[in-house]
Amino acid sequence: MSLLTPDIYLQSVAEVSPELLQKYSIRSLLLDVDSTLKRYKSDSLEPEAVHWLETMKRAEIGLCILSNGKAHRIRPIAELIQVPFVAPALKPLPVGCKTALTTMNFDRKTTAMVGDQVFADLLAGKLAGLFTILVKPIHPEEEHWYTRIKRPLESFVLGQVKTGKLRS
Ligand SMILES: [Mg+2]
Repeated sequence: MSLLTPDIYLQSVAEVSPELLQKYSIRSLLLDVDSTLKRYKSDSLEPEAVHWLETMKRAEIGLCILSNGKAHRIRPIAELIQVPFVAPALKPLPVGCKTALTTMNFDRKTTAMVGDQVFADLLAGKLAGLFTILVKPIHPEEEHWYTRIKRPLESFVLGQVKTGKLRS
């Protein structure tokens, strides 16, 4: 079960502050895109996410996008916000996380995986030995059916995890 329990579970990336990251000695983030930084059906990031990314950059937090989306779809988003990317990342396999760590020269011990899906982002982060931050999905009703069908099981898994509460 610990493989499916995030270290931190929050409402959105906006709650991931430099102070919070410092508390856990996190210096770098691997970032999911769909339903984490943008609505699934949108081509552009949520304004709050763009603002948050700027805050992270100012705090000199290392950033790398890690998406299961195809590279041709993720590249324009990554270029717009000037953040490197690994895509497709093949989450929940840890291979994409490991590629990102190596490419970016991030230390596994000070890097967190941030995403909205238990059976993709969280599991990949755990299998790669990373700190994990789960956030609630932005507008989950817009997602593909194969993502939506996993949500009830996610809710079950997360049943005891209250938003904002810290798990160890
Ligand atoms: Mg996602």
